Amino acid sequence: MIDFELSEEQQMIRDSVGAFARDEIRPAARPADESGAIPAPLVAKAWQFGFVSGAVPEKFGGGGDTRPAVTGAIVAEELGFGDLSIAIHVLAPRLFAFPIVEMGTDDQRAKYLKRFTGADFAAATAAVMEPRFDFDLSALQVSARRDGGGFVLNGAKCYVPLAAEADSMLVYAATDAAKGFAGVDGFIVPRGAAGVTISEREKNMGLKALATYELTLKDCRVGADARVGGDKGIDFSRLMSQSRVALAAMGVGVMNAAFEYARDYAKERKAFGVPIATKQAIAFMLADMAIEIDAARLLVWEAAFKLDKGGDALKESYLAKNYVAQSALKVTDNGVQVLGGHGYIREHPVEMWLRNARGFSAIDGIATV
Ligand SMILES: Cc1cc2nc3c(=O)[nH]c(=O)nc-3n(C[C@H](O)[C@H](O)[C@H](O)COP(=O)(O)OP(=O)(O)OC[C@H]3O[C@@H](n4cnc5c(N)ncnc54)[C@H](O)[C@@H]3O)c2cc1C
Repeated sequence: MIDFELSEEQQMIRDSVGAFARDEIRPAARPADESGAIPAPLVAKAWQFGFVSGAVPEKFGGGGDTRPAVTGAIVAEELGFGDLSIAIHVLAPRLFAFPIVEMGTDDQRAKYLKRFTGADFAAATAAVMEPRFDFDLSALQVSARRDGGGFVLNGAKCYVPLAAEADSMLVYAATDAAKGFAGVDGFIVPRGAAGVTISEREKNMGLKALATYELTLKDCRVGADARVGGDKGIDFSRLMSQSRVALAAMGVGVMNAAFEYARDYAKERKAFGVPIATKQAIAFMLADMAIEIDAARLLVWEAAFKLDKGGDALKESYLAKNYVAQSALKVTDNGVQVLGGHGYIREHPVEMWLRNARGFSAIDGIATV
């Protein structure tokens, strides 16, 4: 039996996060895109939703939620609907906290999770991607070599959100390159650790409000206690599936934003005396957009459902993320097209959504691998 109905709780979450996205994130999106800065009060307000603290176990001061992936996807979609840069910024601390919640040792939980339960936004992040043409999650080139009681990290990462303001970051590195996903570990690296260099802010085509950085690790030594999960390590495949589902869900939100905006515009805009929405060329485009959104959302929900069942959902999350990377481009491009020449100017947000949507092919590995 398959059920696509949201529970009452999920509907409540969707409504409250959706209202925040529509009323507060959306109006801030264009100024943030132009200035490259997200207003701190907005980030503080998002923090109060408990997107991170909610998942911290109660004994460390958090909400102790079980973090169902389907509910996470609903939240991510709503935030993405508001703005992708702001959504990634406010959710970035999850990239650090959630692997520790789920796979960290007791000591790591005690040491690192409390900071996410305070009243103020706690910047944290993870370094996954690498600046190479053949980047592949199952064949990371950043390496962690055992050395005495600890590890030595070497290599380069890119697109690391909030790296310059995060106290610590989670750096994924290959401890045994021959083992693929199973040979990857996560290491907690303080920002100021010897051997870590954080670049100037990256200059990206889209996501201009989101601060991302390159990270260079040169003989960066960390203790054995920096390895998430200790000797047991992590389930890297599951962690990447989780982040892909969240990213893909945000993509559905971006698509929906473009669709709603274009639909409403097409009903208002008149050409030859009638709304352009009544012209088949426009109506078909809008219908195609709606189809893509529903298809992408179903792929996301399927992958999230699989994660909630306890599987790693590697295939499903890959399909969802890959589908979103392609369909978000198509849908946001249609959004620009429905507005005609007006879509190309900054007065409307559709060009920004198109630039942001292009990022899905780059973030978390190229869509063709
Ligand atoms: C970079 C740039 C430079 C420009 N430079 C100039 C310039 O130098 N001089 C100048 O005069 N203009 C210029 N323009 C404006 C350009 O000519 C108009 O943008 C263009 O004609 C489209 O009109 P519109 O933006 O009003 O879109 P609309 O007419 O509102 O069209 C919106 C959408 O509806 C569709 N549509 C409209 N009517 C119909 C119909 N009957 N049936 C089916 N579909 C329909 C369109 O294909 C489009 O997808 C420029 C635009 C851009 C983007």
